[in-house]
Amino acid sequence: MAEETSERPGGSIVTLSEELEKQVAMGAGHLGMSASEIVHAALHQFLQHDPKGNAVYLSAPFDALMKGCYEENTTINDLKRHGNFGLGTFNHLDGEMMMLDGTVYQLKEDGFAHPVSDTVETPFSCVTFFSPTTVEEIHREMDHAGFKNLLDQLMPSENVFSAIRIDAEFSYIRVWSVPKQETHRPISEVRPAVFEYHDVKGTLAGFYTPRFIKSLLNPGYHLHFLTDDRRHGGHLDQCSLNQLTIGVQIIPRLELNLPITIDYLTAKLV
Ligand SMILES: [Zn+2]
Repeated sequence: MAEETSERPGGSIVTLSEELEKQVAMGAGHLGMSASEIVHAALHQFLQHDPKGNAVYLSAPFDALMKGCYEENTTINDLKRHGNFGLGTFNHLDGEMMMLDGTVYQLKEDGFAHPVSDTVETPFSCVTFFSPTTVEEIHREMDHAGFKNLLDQLMPSENVFSAIRIDAEFSYIRVWSVPKQETHRPISEVRPAVFEYHDVKGTLAGFYTPRFIKSLLNPGYHLHFLTDDRRHGGHLDQCSLNQLTIGVQIIPRLELNLPITIDYLTAKLV
């Protein structure tokens, strides 16, 4: 079986880890398929950008984070199996997270952004494979109220998820990030650090969440910001912007992970 797994689909060079090779061999045994068939099927599913097949993946319910479950031990490596785009935070609430084009950035309480390694852990994250259904270019200055109106117009519905990416020039933007916390301190008691920038290019990335899903994910718009030079960022509070390229992806599915940690299993969520 190990020989079969080292076949090279499409003639290209593919190397599987020993662990993955074992899983493929086991799956082949269970499913009565060859290892090649399994690798082909898995890749096909991963690579096709069918919006109906895409999901918003949540590593934990938002309510658990609100109640101070700050250590849920999902690794960035795990997250990347579910998306290349999204947002969240890190264990101990150590800054805001943004995932953009497959790279995860930690937007720290000092206002600086850093790429993080795959072994870093998150208690709450929300990701998807970003493939916009529509892309609009808008060349006019708008303040925060105008920006929110624009988003409202572009959302396909209030009742499904949308992933939103905006690349733009910001004449003004105010963001915040959160300082590292002890577990169990309710998020409402955490004082964020606020940062303001003028005349900066950057990207907003995040989601629209239907209001009835509020215990799982914060409802309405949730967007994180990263500057073009990838050095600064945070959770969007206010902005004025121009020269927007705005991609919106309608997402009709939610994939919810419920953590299996003592903290989560014993949390009083209602
Ligand atoms: Zn946020």
